[in-house]
Amino acid sequence: MAAESSNGPLGLLGPPNHQVPPAPPPAEPLNVIIIGAGIAGLASAAALRQAGHKSRFANEVGAAIHVGPNATRALEFLGYDAARLRGVICAGISVHESASAKQVIEIDTSDAKSKYGYQWYLVHRVDLHNELKLLALAPRQGNLIPELHLSSKVESIDPEAGAVTLQNGDTHYADLVIGADGVYSVSREAVFGADKPYAVGDSCYRFVLDSNEIYDDPKCLAMKRGNGYCRIIASPTKRVVIYPCRNDELLNFVCIHPQGTETDDTDWQTESSTEDLLESYSDFAPSVLACLKKAKDVKHWQLLQRHPIPSWVKGRFALVGDAAHPMLPHQAQGGAQSLEDAVTLGPLLRFGTTASQVPGILTLYQQCRHPRASTIVQMSRDQKAGERTISPQITNDFIFAHDAAAYAKHTRASVLII
Ligand SMILES: Cc1cc2nc3c(=O)[nH]c(=O)nc-3n(C[C@H](O)[C@H](O)[C@H](O)COP(=O)(O)OP(=O)(O)OC[C@H]3O[C@@H](n4cnc5c(N)ncnc54)[C@H](O)[C@@H]3O)c2cc1C
Repeated sequence: MAAESSNGPLGLLGPPNHQVPPAPPPAEPLNVIIIGAGIAGLASAAALRQAGHKSRFANEVGAAIHVGPNATRALEFLGYDAARLRGVICAGISVHESASAKQVIEIDTSDAKSKYGYQWYLVHRVDLHNELKLLALAPRQGNLIPELHLSSKVESIDPEAGAVTLQNGDTHYADLVIGADGVYSVSREAVFGADKPYAVGDSCYRFVLDSNEIYDDPKCLAMKRGNGYCRIIASPTKRVVIYPCRNDELLNFVCIHPQGTETDDTDWQTESSTEDLLESYSDFAPSVLACLKKAKDVKHWQLLQRHPIPSWVKGRFALVGDAAHPMLPHQAQGGAQSLEDAVTLGPLLRFGTTASQVPGILTLYQQCRHPRASTIVQMSRDQKAGERTISPQITNDFIFAHDAAAYAKHTRASVLII
């Protein structure tokens, strides 16, 4: 790693002749630009702010999401409030045969906390975003407040100079630039060259419903209030996934079905219709269709991937979240890995890190995160293809037991940075 000076603030070289060394200059916060304010961008801002650095954002969003124990551990590191998150503890997963809705598999997940130390929550995305935004932006005593710039589209990036030029022609400079702009990442293409996302051949309908609408209707698939189960009604090619969120007031629906590989959606918020949804699932059991008939405000989201790239860092620039490692939703880990990215950056770039140390420390970020996130990208593909070669237990232990922040702290402490 390049030396800043032979006895810089983090150097371990002792002063000559036992003279009292001059006091080092007071540590300055790093100036950070974060492109994108989704899960990865907001969490990175919260983690870097916790470390004492100052971020500026470009942009923002809003179904529900599994927040597995590894993600909850990351949220805990960021100081989240469980009551504000309004998550439902995931008590289990049941799999049902599509034509009859008969339960064929039941997995108890209520022991996640005792096994991994942290809860497995089912959370509305808006609640997660709001919590991350609060952690990133809320005024706190003696702390730097990041600035959020909405509708600031990025045009180009110079990773070595830490320069970000916006579509309006303005150029901003920072000690660290983070590309957190999701699967359609412009920042990834600006720094690592054109590599477009491609469609994997599946799409999903997404919507949320007032849970009483389903719980109180005997024609709907039987789901007990307060039971905390994630239900998967599956045929060989399609599935409907239903789970509660927001203190069990809402039920989240994700309906994954095959669709051509031509990329048509330009955003995950593409509007769809209840009629299209019902047509796609017309072969499913009447009790499932009774639920789908109630759908409102249906969004359509094409599942996209990118070919992996060997590095996510260059100069003062680092990719996080879907911009770095877009993954299929079959392990419910894209958001969780985004949180792990964020809580890795915070401890690696702890307060006192100088601007000249940033490129070297980003190579540690790459070492901490690239192998693990890339493995989970592959696990998600294998799960979809039915090619899982390792047991669900080993998969869960690998995914859920990881402590990304502790790993980063240990990595930073064990490497001599001068
Ligand atoms: C069907 C489905 C179900 C899923 N379920 C789960 C789950 O249960 N658990 C889980 O952990 N993950 C899940 N995921 C994955 C998860 O949603 C993503 O991994 C996560 O949202 C990625 O966060 P991100 O911040 O990297 O990207 P995004 O959430 O896409 O945010 C990117 C942000 O960047 C902004 N942006 C884009 N371009 C620019 C630009 N040029 N300039 C500035 N800003 C820009 C966007 O407006 C947005 O605010 C699921 C995904 C899908 C598709």
